[in-house]
Amino acid sequence: MTGSANQELVEQFEQFYRRYYSEEVGELARHYPRKQKSLTIDWADLYQFDADLAEDFVAQPDQVRDHAEEALRLYDLPVDVSLAQAHVRIQGLEQAGIGELRAEHISTLVSIQGTVETTRNVKSRPVEAAFECQRCGTLNLVPQSVVGELQEPHECMGCERQGPFQVNVDKSEYVDQQWVRVQERPAGQHMSADIASVMVSLEDDLVDSVEPGDSVVVTGVVRLDDDMDASITDKYLEADDVTAADPYSGLELSDEDKLRIQELAESDDLFDRLTESVAPTVPDQEDVKRGILYQLFGGVRKEFEDGTTTRGTIHIGIVGDPGTQKADLLQAATKLAPRSLQTGGKTTTSVGLTAAAERTSGQHQRWELRAGTLVLGDQGLVAVDNFDDMDGSKQEALHEPMEKQRVSVSKGSINRVLRAETSVLTASEPVHGRFDEYQAVGEQLGFTPDLVDAFDLVFICLDGQDERELEETVDHFLDVNRQQSVIEDGSDISPLDPELLQKYVAYARSNHSPQLTEGASEKLKDYYIERRSETDDTPAPAPVNRSSLATLMRLSEASARIRLSENVTEADAERAIKLFDRTLSDLGLDTEMAEYDSELIETGTVSGETDQRKQNKGIKEVINEIQSEYENGAPLEEILEEAENLGYSPGKVESEIENLKQKGEIYQPAQDHFRAF
Ligand SMILES: [Zn+2]
Repeated sequence: MTGSANQELVEQFEQFYRRYYSEEVGELARHYPRKQKSLTIDWADLYQFDADLAEDFVAQPDQVRDHAEEALRLYDLPVDVSLAQAHVRIQGLEQAGIGELRAEHISTLVSIQGTVETTRNVKSRPVEAAFECQRCGTLNLVPQSVVGELQEPHECMGCERQGPFQVNVDKSEYVDQQWVRVQERPAGQHMSADIASVMVSLEDDLVDSVEPGDSVVVTGVVRLDDDMDASITDKYLEADDVTAADPYSGLELSDEDKLRIQELAESDDLFDRLTESVAPTVPDQEDVKRGILYQLFGGVRKEFEDGTTTRGTIHIGIVGDPGTQKADLLQAATKLAPRSLQTGGKTTTSVGLTAAAERTSGQHQRWELRAGTLVLGDQGLVAVDNFDDMDGSKQEALHEPMEKQRVSVSKGSINRVLRAETSVLTASEPVHGRFDEYQAVGEQLGFTPDLVDAFDLVFICLDGQDERELEETVDHFLDVNRQQSVIEDGSDISPLDPELLQKYVAYARSNHSPQLTEGASEKLKDYYIERRSETDDTPAPAPVNRSSLATLMRLSEASARIRLSENVTEADAERAIKLFDRTLSDLGLDTEMAEYDSELIETGTVSGETDQRKQNKGIKEVINEIQSEYENGAPLEEILEEAENLGYSPGKVESEIENLKQKGEIYQPAQDHFRAF
């Protein structure tokens, strides 16, 4: 560009500011440099002013920005202030995918959207280093780049010799700089999947503007690093602007979408229709699907005057026998949630779930804060498959994010609290791989006692289909393949297009925060008191406590949200109670067994007992009989043989032995030998 072209560019920007941004420039002048250091312009405004100029800004951002900033310095300001170091930042470009950044983008301006994955410590970096010649004392100023080693002058401007030089810190110019990594917005992706991400350099007033887990739009210049430390990939972004993004953006709702959603919300079969649309390929399990539906919409997060908060997120645990299609339910949920991640109980670590503070490798070590799955899933849903593979310490790590909706990290110089407003959906098998109807259900869940309370709903799925159910399952399968399904009353309900349901969820969550009406409160209170008094009389298998009341509120709010209403009505409360009651009765298997046991103790026999029930008192007796003949206790082989005569399957015998061992009724004096106390 020639000198006159330069002059022309500066004048163009001056005119642009006068026409579109005079107020903003005035604002900047009043607050510069303490409160504000940058003028942010919208690319669309520039395009409207002069399309060529806007396109030049994208293609040659370095040169054009220099002129834009020069124009700002020359601007006739209302107050007497110099905007010498003020930045012109641009936003609002059409977005590119992080994974789509190619060589053609280098040195051009792009906008990307994603979630902040890591943030590093803020450091000062030289923008311009002053090298003092040790021979003649001349100061040589050399511009420095964000990456790579310090660039020395080729030769001294004074004596034309090659140094030696020494950096004069006072005469050098420094700026605050911070590296962050932004990953592509996760939408139903498995954590092990290769999610594209990019390093972003934030400078000056942009440092410390984001936290791991934040949804952001970054506009910046794509740079190529040929000499960078290994922890940074070849391309990076020099950020021009960082803006918080709507976590659900990317799901653009057309007017037609909104109209359809409104229509659906007013339809009579709304709840059945939406429930049917959750995992339509999975037969039965209607209550679990309903639970997932309520979880997708969620309750309302509340902040109180004293600063305390209660969560709105609903956490669900599905514990089921093999073959109950738990994984399919999880997958459906992640597909329908507007924002979701999936992870596995075995593959993930505690810090992988929450957050980690680590030192980076390479020459320039810095502390790095890395968001785990629950932080990245903020405002969305995290599905954990094979939850039974998580040991106690991993489960413990989940407690804070599930209950408090945050993750605290304290390590090295890092001391931070990250937001994690994330719903958790887990799937696991019971402790012995399959539910044992003779053992208390609560003991078979495999949840640490602390964590049980964090789950709002726990569903027990038994693989005990009788023939009629099997037939229904087959029918259902065929129906689904005809793209429709039949519900009980015989009317046809076709599942919604998953994309529309996803939009429905996003729309309801963004626009509705329903509040409890008096009628609904009364309803929940009555139910709670009634249940409470019941469990006071008996040893409670599934205690109804304060957290149950909070669960009922969240479910009621979710129900109102599904209706796109601002009021939680009595009908919403009733729906919540119905669903909650189902999970209580799941766990209530305990109650039946407890009654049975007490009857057995009192009378010694049980009237009308089945063969199976005879078995229950058998194994310990079998061991007792056999052990007298052996020094090391009853051998497993003999127990199995004897038990088989009584109608036990080998698997049943082994689970019963395990059970008796845990209860301390038998012990194992030698390998495969057992003795009863
Ligand atoms: Zn010199």
